Amino acid sequence: MAIKLIAFDWNGTLLADTQVNLRASNFNFKKFGLKQISLTQFQKTFHIPVSRFWLEHKGKTEDLDAQSKNFHRLYETHANKTRTRAGSKPLLSWLKKYGIKRMIYSNHIAPDIIKQLMRLNIFEYFDEVLARSVEDGHTQVHFRNKEQKLLDYIKRNNLKPKEILTVGDTEEEIEIGKKYGYHTVAITGGYNSTARLKKHKPDFLIHNMKDLIPIIKKLNCY
Ligand SMILES: [Mg+2]
Repeated sequence: MAIKLIAFDWNGTLLADTQVNLRASNFNFKKFGLKQISLTQFQKTFHIPVSRFWLEHKGKTEDLDAQSKNFHRLYETHANKTRTRAGSKPLLSWLKKYGIKRMIYSNHIAPDIIKQLMRLNIFEYFDEVLARSVEDGHTQVHFRNKEQKLLDYIKRNNLKPKEILTVGDTEEEIEIGKKYGYHTVAITGGYNSTARLKKHKPDFLIHNMKDLIPIIKKLNCY
């Protein structure tokens, strides 16, 4: 069965924003009196839902919503300096040429993603962006929700699990892929350490987005 759809995670996967998130997290921690963390600590402990990450670093439960708002404000001020992960553009253009659908599924807010896609000149490459609406707000840090959005999309479009390949930089996307039977690709150098990614046994582990091309060629027998 050939791959028909690539479901990309956004933060840390297509968008190289790990350092921006780390910096915003540290500014945020400082404001609420928490200890600063290193990149290694960040990759070891970052978690979706973010509430778990916050509590792990000794944040108070009553500060959850306030810290989330503050974090997003800090994050958005630096998001405009980010670039795409290495190899993203050649990969997207190759997928488009071969007629393989490309989508983003994310816990982030859709208009923010679209704004960045336009700035980075890659908006045209995506068939769909499944993400949170503005009405959901920045305060919904307690849930994972992109899993269900992707599942609904797949059902609506009569796709089979083995026609889907999910790419992500965190445990979340591998867990989703394993749960529903999608092909799973984990990319290192994002929000999670390589050790955490390996623990979930993704089908493939890559370092550069371009590494996906030979994987898809093999799966689709090109
Ligand atoms: Mg991510």
